[in-house]
Amino acid sequence: MSKPKESCREIMISRGSGAEVADSSISKAFKFTKGKPTKIIHPPIESHWLLPPQETKTSSSSSTSGIKSTLAFAPLMIRDSLKKLGRSKSMQTVLEGAHDTKDEKLIDCFREFLFVEGILPGKNTDYHTLLRFLRMRDFDLPKAKEMFVNYLKWREDYRVDAIPQEFKFEEFAEVKKCYPHGYHGLDRHGRPIYIERIGMLDLDALLQSTTIDRYVRYHVSEKEKTLKLRFPACSIAAKRHIASITSILDVKGVGMSNFSKPARYLFMEIQKIDSNYYPETLHKLFIVNAGSGFRMLWKALRAFLDARTLAKIQVLGSNYVSNLLEIIDPSNLPTFLGGNCTCSDYGGCLFSDKGPWNDPETVEIIEAVSATEDVFDNGEICDEAQLNGQNGGVRDRTGGKLERQKIQALKAALEDTNKKVQALETALEDTKRMLKELAQHLAALKI
Ligand SMILES: [Zn+2]
Repeated sequence: MSKPKESCREIMISRGSGAEVADSSISKAFKFTKGKPTKIIHPPIESHWLLPPQETKTSSSSSTSGIKSTLAFAPLMIRDSLKKLGRSKSMQTVLEGAHDTKDEKLIDCFREFLFVEGILPGKNTDYHTLLRFLRMRDFDLPKAKEMFVNYLKWREDYRVDAIPQEFKFEEFAEVKKCYPHGYHGLDRHGRPIYIERIGMLDLDALLQSTTIDRYVRYHVSEKEKTLKLRFPACSIAAKRHIASITSILDVKGVGMSNFSKPARYLFMEIQKIDSNYYPETLHKLFIVNAGSGFRMLWKALRAFLDARTLAKIQVLGSNYVSNLLEIIDPSNLPTFLGGNCTCSDYGGCLFSDKGPWNDPETVEIIEAVSATEDVFDNGEICDEAQLNGQNGGVRDRTGGKLERQKIQALKAALEDTNKKVQALETALEDTKRMLKELAQHLAALKI
């Protein structure tokens, strides 16, 4: 599970002293001047993960995907089927993206750092999640650790994993009417597009339909859906790793007068959640229809946004369409933003949630892969504990649904393997029969 200590120490010491950093991944993230790092903005997150032309390496470490690292522990009978599902090159490439070897080294160190804090490998400590936190903190391990520990604590306190089962947002339609927003189609790269017409927000009506707490919980549920369903679905559709969104915020008519106390509170709550717990998931935000009123407000709002987020935001006036069309095909852009989509069958574009995440086959693939990963991740922990003579020390901590998913995934894999075994047995019987006949034939010839 661990990498050689030397490599971690080397990285940590070199950063701590502020000296020239040997690791080029860190060097890329920092420009050191007199021991003080100057932030530079990272390239779009997916470009960091483009797959190299050759086969991804196989020697490596426990830090690669759960599927990879735990195959060795899977029961023999199902191993081949799971391998087929989990290691299918195209699926792994698409859903996982390439793992940069230098980033892997940093992530191994980060895992060790977290391990000392009692954070064991699990479903929230996958490569890409850890990388997002590291990048958000410019690869500063202690700061990234603090942020990540807070994130896990928030997930537990806020019961994020239980939201899909426990939280029903019945006021959804009402809320949409007074706060038009939603996911709608893909940009030219294949990223999901998120649109908000905040200028049309009727806060009084919104607060009659729901509460801010419930709205925030709904916002979190949508964030989770984006990470767990929309990104993987977009990755499958685009045949490359997709892990960030393109957002459009229409601020027509928005000014200081719109920024009442509850509006400020709502903005701050959502901003806090997005930046603290879902870092590095924004590719670009276009703010369109920015008038003089909004521009004044923007001066105040900027103070709440970090430099990395600000660098991704482009504030545009009423001549924004050409900017949007550069990265979005008109078929994916609603007419009210200069495109030609109306989603009339769904009552409008912001009600449609149009995207590859609605395709049943895609959803099925994602659910199967997710369930298989859960099997591996949990299997890894248990098997390692057993190998260390700590039988029964670590158990699945995620409840009955996960257990059912695991069982279903195992059953499916087992059925697949059984079919293959039956086919092999039939072939073996045929071969035996043929050999027997051949032997009889030879015997007859000798006679
Ligand atoms: Zn539409």
